[in-house]
Amino acid sequence: MFTGLATGLALLAPGRVAAAPAAPPAPVATGWGGAVATVDADASRTAIEVLRSGGNAMDAAVAAVATLGVTEPYVAALGGGGFLLHYDARTGRVQTVDGRETAPAKMGERSFVDPATGRAIPFEEAVTSGLSVGVPGTLAQWDLALRRFGSRPLGTLLKPAIGVAERGFTVDQEFHDQTAVNAARFRDIVPTRRLFLPGGAPPPVGSTFRNPDLARTYRTLAERGPDWLYGGGLGREVVAAVRRPPVDPAATRRVRPGLLAEGDLARYRALSRPPTRVRYRGLEVYGMAPPSSGGSTVGEVLNILAGLPRPGADPVPALHRYLEASRLAYADRGRYIGDPAYVDVPLRELLSPGFAAERRCLVTGRAAASPVPPGSPDGRYAGCPVPAAAGRPLTAEGPQTTHLVVADRWGNVVSYTVTIEQFGGSGITVPGRGFLLNNELTDFTLEPTPGDPNLPAPGKRPRSSMAPTIVLRDGRPWLALGSPGGSTIITTVLQILLNRIDLGMDLPAAVAAPRATQRNTPQTLAELAFIERYGAGLRALGHDLAVFPGPPAGQIGAAAALEFLRPGLVQAVAEPVRRHGGSARVVHPVVGPAR
Ligand code: GLU
Repeated sequence: MFTGLATGLALLAPGRVAAAPAAPPAPVATGWGGAVATVDADASRTAIEVLRSGGNAMDAAVAAVATLGVTEPYVAALGGGGFLLHYDARTGRVQTVDGRETAPAKMGERSFVDPATGRAIPFEEAVTSGLSVGVPGTLAQWDLALRRFGSRPLGTLLKPAIGVAERGFTVDQEFHDQTAVNAARFRDIVPTRRLFLPGGAPPPVGSTFRNPDLARTYRTLAERGPDWLYGGGLGREVVAAVRRPPVDPAATRRVRPGLLAEGDLARYRALSRPPTRVRYRGLEVYGMAPPSSGGSTVGEVLNILAGLPRPGADPVPALHRYLEASRLAYADRGRYIGDPAYVDVPLRELLSPGFAAERRCLVTGRAAASPVPPGSPDGRYAGCPVPAAAGRPLTAEGPQTTHLVVADRWGNVVSYTVTIEQFGGSGITVPGRGFLLNNELTDFTLEPTPGDPNLPAPGKRPRSSMAPTIVLRDGRPWLALGSPGGSTIITTVLQILLNRIDLGMDLPAAVAAPRATQRNTPQTLAELAFIERYGAGLRALGHDLAVFPGPPAGQIGAAAALEFLRPGLVQAVAEPVRRHGGSARVVHPVVGPAR
């Protein structure tokens, strides 16, 4: 979260390794020995320290996320969840760890229905509530990921974050803005107000923000381990905050209590799942399987595009095909993706060449009218059937989380998206513990809709859009990327892939390029620069373009990515501008042309 634009490629002769590894914070860094891109300079610094001292990619990723829990408490926290992909340089395998939140045992299809109206409570009301808090998965995910792929104990990896929480960090515009958008609801919840509105207002830009409560929580966690949350005293405190949200008695806001119980925490498990995998232009693209819709939807779009003409000099036809393929894939996402432990997700068929062919034939030279209906991933593919069902509108989803990528000197790679759902999650801080609880259960379809695969159920994981991605070329890592942005995550990842693979951009340009998102909605929402550049061409093909409303207004996503320029030599790329820019770093920077 800084505004600098230096590329870090300017000071030394071509190809030389800089003597001092003190690269200034920048959105692009190229070099050896390991690399990281996150949204935040403290988190990237933490990752680099871990890598430099001999930690591996997973160690660095966990340490960086713990630091984000301090500096980005509205998107990453112990109170949330996430998904990660890991490439193991020893085995050459990509594996995943699912740390998605789960619904309490007491939750059912109608838990979000207001008996007074018979309809789901308003989305905004669900957001700030105990009802939306799922069992936090992040800690169990760290535990499983470190046991599988890490080399250091969690207690050691929490130390840098403890230091930042105690010393404090300088409030920047992004932190200030994220506090300000939440101020009204934070004010109503006593421990949240105390922590994030010191003196009653968002901390001013340039002030130092400390979180001694979180430092103490991390210290105790280092001693007691994850069981402190999943069956111990911290778990009891979380349950108490969810069941009786600590709302100011003077507040008029209704904050519904949740259903979480200690047994839900004790039952929670992070899961290791096979990744999704598709081939695109000779590359292997790995993604997150359900309950995330990230891997299946990215994969389906790529499969559709693989059979269409390769882009020529004019990008407009390629962008048109990308928007149309997304439109179709989002119809399938809405119809078929949910937690596979609860619904029969036809993942294999959704990612099959036959199904892609059937969907591809609906991509014409004109924009289709959304919502388009889903297809039939049933294994019987012939001709170009017109789907019979009606299309469904996109359901509401919160728009914010954070992504980071890390590579180490051995060639291991982590691509990790972590979230508490909305900016500020449920708004409920666990009293005295310094972290916010998620509102991830709002990712369920709240209105009981017959046949919807994403209705709440006991222990179920809500559908996600998180799309941590790793691309292999000739069996070795080439790209790793991901983004926040709720249901726009998938299109952001796709667009970066297409920019890099098909449209001839290098990775920094592919990340910086203006974005558009078509999620089976009548309008295609886009950044202003996208509309200015491609609007006339796309409107001529029937696209109705409008500026993405946010939040933040006019900006889609906040990507973090890396590319192996050759074995060991990595270019890390963060956002140059969106959300005030991110932070890319490498252990040993190369200064000068590295390609
Ligand atoms: N809850 C969202 C999801 O799982 C992530 C939050 C966001 O990126 O805005 O897809």
